[in-house]
Amino acid sequence: MKPSTLAITAGSTPARAALPVAGPIHVSAVSYYDDAAELDAALDGGGYAYGRIRAPNAESLEQAIAALEGAEACVSYASGMSALRALWDSLALREGDVAMVPADGYGASLSLLKRLASERRVTLQLQRFTAPEALAAIAAAKPKLVFLESVTNPLLSVPDVTALASAAHHLGAAVAVDATFSSPLGQRPLSLGADLVLHSTTKWINGHSDALGGVVSGAKTRIEPMRAARILTGDILGPFEAYLTLRGVRTLPLRMKAHSEHALALAKALESSGKVANLRYPGLPSHPDHAVARRVLEVEQSGFGGLMAFELPKGGRAEAFRFLEAVKLARPAPSLGDVATLVMHAASASARRMTPEERERAGISERLIRVSVGLEDPMEIAADLLQAIDSSLR
Ligand SMILES: *Cc1c(COP(=O)(O)O)cnc(C)c1O
Repeated sequence: MKPSTLAITAGSTPARAALPVAGPIHVSAVSYYDDAAELDAALDGGGYAYGRIRAPNAESLEQAIAALEGAEACVSYASGMSALRALWDSLALREGDVAMVPADGYGASLSLLKRLASERRVTLQLQRFTAPEALAAIAAAKPKLVFLESVTNPLLSVPDVTALASAAHHLGAAVAVDATFSSPLGQRPLSLGADLVLHSTTKWINGHSDALGGVVSGAKTRIEPMRAARILTGDILGPFEAYLTLRGVRTLPLRMKAHSEHALALAKALESSGKVANLRYPGLPSHPDHAVARRVLEVEQSGFGGLMAFELPKGGRAEAFRFLEAVKLARPAPSLGDVATLVMHAASASARRMTPEERERAGISERLIRVSVGLEDPMEIAADLLQAIDSSLR
């Protein structure tokens, strides 16, 4: 063979001899078969032929997530936002339909949903689902979709998914839960009555901030049409991202347990320091939704989660920015779910696109700091945050 042929064919036969403990990353976007009938079947989804149709690493991750969610099926996407868009599209809401979404949820989700709703002339009704009037509001709105977040951002309110899903189903609405803040270990929304559960895998599931991704799980009748649509929209999760995310899944149960333990220890240390105001952690009896959290979160299995929020004792944005610059162990990063502790100034990050009045109404002050508690020693993190609070006030 000529070098030009050798360069293409040599070393291209995959090794098939043994079963590797660490599975391969299937980077090939294209596969071929010696048997033409097999290729023909693969193109119908019976095998791997083209990476936009089926991909082994994405499927391995989907199997793992479906198993953890107790779901019949799971479908993965290039990001949490693309997963949300696909979920919305799958519901085929029509002009005049009402979709109820969290007023106090993830800002980017709200921006996307506003845009999708206006394209389809669907009425978006913003609702604080932890408010006492939430059930009555559902009954009055007669929605086609109730979209919840397991734990809201950044104030960590915990809606009663069981009661809300039951009220929504009574009216024939679909119920979807973004459980990103809880991870599949911290809440099992399908067993609480939800039809669909979504995660940005970028956060706890990946756990190491090295891949974007999103997943949606539920019954086959809901997920398989989404998988079919994904062949055309092309926003399947890439092989490297799927591999890294599945690697994260392997330690997810242990990590969530530890993140929750560390968060509880940190919350108690901050509360007893007397240096923070309005500490919000669902695991503390002082949290307004503590009793609901005990019912709807998998507390026995993985505690109350790794997120908390608090206010600096005084000052405004300048003090908050000084706090961000003064932390030495924690990192001032606008994300969550990492093995490292991440701190965020909510008003300038996740709530950045809200007007000051909207933030005020949502209870997001300029002094509010959200903490994603990492796996460092929790007392060393407490000392770090407390010294940063002191420097912010100087
Ligand atoms: C991050 C996040 C998303 C969006 O996910 P990406 O992976 O960044 O696209 C959606 N919902 C919640 C609650 C999130 O925290």
